[in-house]
Amino acid sequence: MDVQKIRDDFPILQRQIRGRPLIYLDNAATSQKPRQVLDTIQAFYTLYNANIHRGTHTLAQEASDLYEQAHRNVARFIGAETWQEVVFVRNSTEGINLVAYSLLHGQKDRLRLEPGDEIVLTLMEHHSDLVPWQMVRDLRGVALKFVDVREDGTLDLAQVQASITERTKLVCCAHVSNVLGTINPVREIGQLAHSVGALFLIDGAQSVPHLPTAVKELGCDFLAFSGHKMLAPMGIGVLYGRRELLEEMTPFLYGGDMIADVTVEGATWNRLPWKFEAGTPDVCGGIALGGAIDRRSGRRLEGAVDYLSRLGMEAIHAHEVELTRHMLRGLQAMPEVRVHGPPEADMRCGVAAFAVERDGEPSDSHLIAQLLDEEGIAVRAGGHCAYPLARRMGVADTVRASLYLYNTMEEVDRFLEVLREIVQHQLL
Ligand code: PMP
Repeated sequence: MDVQKIRDDFPILQRQIRGRPLIYLDNAATSQKPRQVLDTIQAFYTLYNANIHRGTHTLAQEASDLYEQAHRNVARFIGAETWQEVVFVRNSTEGINLVAYSLLHGQKDRLRLEPGDEIVLTLMEHHSDLVPWQMVRDLRGVALKFVDVREDGTLDLAQVQASITERTKLVCCAHVSNVLGTINPVREIGQLAHSVGALFLIDGAQSVPHLPTAVKELGCDFLAFSGHKMLAPMGIGVLYGRRELLEEMTPFLYGGDMIADVTVEGATWNRLPWKFEAGTPDVCGGIALGGAIDRRSGRRLEGAVDYLSRLGMEAIHAHEVELTRHMLRGLQAMPEVRVHGPPEADMRCGVAAFAVERDGEPSDSHLIAQLLDEEGIAVRAGGHCAYPLARRMGVADTVRASLYLYNTMEEVDRFLEVLREIVQHQLL
């Protein structure tokens, strides 16, 4: 992978921050966007802007066609069986809420949560895959069971197995932790869920941008992820659901476009995936994520998944593992720094959260992030929307550096060098 060439595609990487070249290590929060995706956004609003599905005029037909193609491309990217299994939503959070609300109001036994049902989660879930289930618990009286996280930041499959019972209706798990970077054994967890007839939802917010994804191999019923973490704009995300389930599930949002027919008495639902895409969607964002070709002119609107596929997800992951190994070694060599999560790079994606201790006391992670920013290095500090995990690790706040395809060894070196200076010269 020619990282220098990739970097040329990302105009923001030319920016100077406080007189220094930007070193962007906040990719777990959101990724930067390549010129190709920015061009697609510009092209959509310059040439194709029209509302979809409602017009017979040429622009409306073109916009509808491009938007549908984008679904097809995303379906191919994640190995879905049909494009109707791909619902465009705003982000992972909305995708998970869609499932939560649908199961709350479901009409079929398997797709309806009842008092006494159990949902199994892990302690490393992001709030997006936790708070919706707390809402369901409080409204419906289901029980939430949490699988603990071991000291090394991994899950114990035996404990997952012990948590799953005949009462389990749903198992939810992040494929990759946004704090620990751990790659969880989701395939095995899915098998355990299915062995008792439970549904299995994967939060793919941190995995789909970084790892090859094949939903059939993962064996999930649902997979939620966010476009903005994988080179697409903010405001577009995906809920993948197995067709057979989506067909039977109750919609989440109601209104225009999600209906087949409406009378004053009631309504019937549109076919998939439109049944779950009520109202005017983010057409431009969808195309910028999935990409499409204008069939009339042959013009190609490159999407984020085209860009990622061209490089290959295996190659992207291998590059990130190499950088992560280097970053982990550098962090582990600083006695004041305590890195959370698995010690080996091959067990993770490119996320490293760490605390700095001085005289046995944790230093202020926001101050560290601020000092790094003074050198043009963007990292994140805080609880990273996973407060139960932070509590479990015994730290309220950590600093998190997270990598992506355009980061370089030199950038990791510079980050380590500045951090070392901050820690050693007691700038804290
Ligand atoms: N799950 C995980 C693991 C995440 O890292 C994030 C984003 N930080 C989310 C869910 C939520 O993503 P979004 O804010 O795009 O909905």
